[in-house]
Order: sequence, then structure tokens, then C-alpha cells
Amino acid sequence: MLIVFDITNRCNLKCTYCYHNLLSNKNILEFDEISVKSILNIIKNIIKDTNEPINITFTGGEPFLRADDLLCTLDKLKLYKDRISYISIITNGTLLTYSLSQALFKIWPSLYLDISLDGPEKIHNYQRQSKNGNYSSVLLGIESARKAGLNVSLSSVITKLHLQYTALEYYNFMQSFDLPWYAGKITSEIDSSIYNISDSEFTDFAIELINEWAMDPTDKSVAWIDGILEIITTRQQKVKDNKCADITTVFAGDKGYAWPCSRLVPLKKYVLGSIADGIPFILNSPIRKEISDLFYDDNTCAHESLIRKGIITPLPEFALERERLFAHLAQHVSIHK
Ligand code: SF4
Repeated sequence: MLIVFDITNRCNLKCTYCYHNLLSNKNILEFDEISVKSILNIIKNIIKDTNEPINITFTGGEPFLRADDLLCTLDKLKLYKDRISYISIITNGTLLTYSLSQALFKIWPSLYLDISLDGPEKIHNYQRQSKNGNYSSVLLGIESARKAGLNVSLSSVITKLHLQYTALEYYNFMQSFDLPWYAGKITSEIDSSIYNISDSEFTDFAIELINEWAMDPTDKSVAWIDGILEIITTRQQKVKDNKCADITTVFAGDKGYAWPCSRLVPLKKYVLGSIADGIPFILNSPIRKEISDLFYDDNTCAHESLIRKGIITPLPEFALERERLFAHLAQHVSIHK
């Protein structure tokens, strides 16, 4: 079972595509940050309610804005280390010093850090905005985490800006870090005004990138693009039963409210309940059943299915290209089955 904790909405960056910008929307719940005590209670309750191994991800906002709380939580989780299969933290990497990395390694040596790096400096600094650019801080963060012995992977958000490079150039740049790499959330909304690139050209780039990945004999890189490649990722990592909206995944936001899929956080309508109430309560939620039925009846990934059902909406002008991209991805899914 995977439990994802959004431990803060605060962040030291202002990425152009960040969904935390949605927080002014009236349909969205606003919370205080979840306390260490609540996190531990939730995990304790889940462990009591299930015999399955537990996987935990901490994300945000930027989770290392609560570095002390994270260290404290990890330390206390040692009590349950026989029941926890892995713990990961999704971070922008800018606050990751060597001493923090060492402290993390000391407490939880198998900790897995997923660090956001969108590409070469120009692209990264444009998309992941901060006052003086943060590309070099991220590189330092990556280096610190590696040097301390932590497991590190990279995640990129790919947009039309990336078409300053060929797919191969970009792929080679990311591969030069020699780390597992997740290329995700291809969107078309950023800066088509600066770069006059059509949705069709953008989809071609995405398809070339997927082809590069699919041909990679090293199997070191793992691409995850807008949901459906998650199926491939899952296969490659030999991790089963780890899909959104599956009964084995719960996304927990602040105060322990749970959702069946990350894309639904934090829409009021799809709250399953509080996971402090226990897993049986969540699993029996009628919302979970309703959403699970929607997700898998057309045999696509959860996110794609949400779009098809109109629960979340892609940008209209990108819808057709999105179909083309997903058709291509689907081929790879069947090739790799
Ligand atoms: S680093 Fe993550 S949480 Fe922070 S602004 Fe960027 S996308 Fe949002």
C-alpha cells in the first residue's frame, strides 16, 4: 500500500505549472499542515488495519521546508521498519545540503529522493522560478544526496520550451546524470507565445523522447509521462499494485483526508474520508467505488480516464494531440507487456 503525504503547501519556488496555484479555487479544501503526531497516528492505524507492506511518500509544496519534522518523523517510523517497504520524498532539491542528506541517510539509509530537474539551466530556471535561479542549488542538492549515499532519481516537467533541443539532445542531457529519470506531465500551456511551436510538433517531440527511452538498452532510465507510462514503469520496476485509484493507493492530504488519485487532491467532492478513521472506512467509501469504476472501465490509466470522463479537463486545443500521444504510449504498453 502506498500512502502519499502532502506535508505542506508552502514552497520556496514558484514553478509556472504548479498545481498549488489552484489554492485560491473555492472548490478546494484548505488545511493547516499535518502534524508529525497525526502522520504517525495515521501510519500506526494503517499498519494495524492491514498486513500489506507499507510504502510512504512525502511531498508538498517543498517538504524540506519542514526538514526537522521530516527527520523527526523518519526517526519515529523506525519503530515500524519491518512493516515499511520503502519511504520516498519528492523534493525540488534546493534545500538539500550535505549535512541534511547525511542526517537523512543516518536515520533511513534506504530513503529514496525524487529530485525535480527540468533540463538544462535555461529551461529549468525559467520553469521553476525563483529570484536568482535555482539550477545550481538543485545540482548541489543532487550531489549532496548522492555523496551521502541516498537513492536519487530525477523528475522533469516537459513543456514546449524543451523544443529548443532535439529529443535526443535533451534525452542525452538528462541521461548524463546517470540516474533513474522520470519525464512527466507533458503540458502545452507554457510559452507557446515565446516559441511558436504547434501542439503537433510538441507531441512529435514527446513521441521521439518515448522512442529514445524505449530503445535504451541500459534500462537505467524510466520515463513516466502523464500517467499511462506508469504502467510501463511499474512493469520495469517490478512493483505491482501501485496504481492510483487502485485500492492499494491512498493520497493523504493535510489533516489526513484521503483521495483515490493525486489529480483529485484536494477537490472536496472526492474526499474519501480521513485515513485516521482506518483503512476499512476508506475502502468502503462509495466515492472510491465510483471512481475506481470510472478509472478502469476503458482500460486506460487513471489520469487519462479522468479526462475522458470529464472529471478533470485537459486544455481543449491539446485534446487531439493528447489522444495521439496516448495511442503511441499504448503501443509501448502492449510491446512491453
Ligand atoms: S517545486 Fe514543486 S511545489 Fe514548489 S512551486 Fe515547484 S512544482 Fe510547486
